[in-house]
Amino acid sequence: MRTPPRSLMAAAAVPVALAAAAAVLKAGHWKLYADRHRIHLTPVARRSCPDCRGAGGWWAGGPFPEMEACGCWSERRELHIRLLPVPARFDEPPF
Ligand SMILES: [Zn+2]
Repeated sequence: MRTPPRSLMAAAAVPVALAAAAAVLKAGHWKLYADRHRIHLTPVARRSCPDCRGAGGWWAGGPFPEMEACGCWSERRELHIRLLPVPARFDEPPF
């Protein structure tokens, strides 16, 4: 049995390694997510916030309590940068 050349095997291994490479970094008041398709920077709640004290929100009273987001993170902008297009998936039925 003949084995494929090493360069072909290495070329096949590179996309697998890149697909698994993703990084999540939380520093300061921001959370950074990065992989080969996107870089996403989202704000997180501040520990020094006098309203939520880092929890990000609070529960509103009433018979159906809802979580209200604190303005220390919800009013700040997100940054989303697309890098490589996400390939279309054809494994779903068309209808
Ligand atoms: Zn807050």
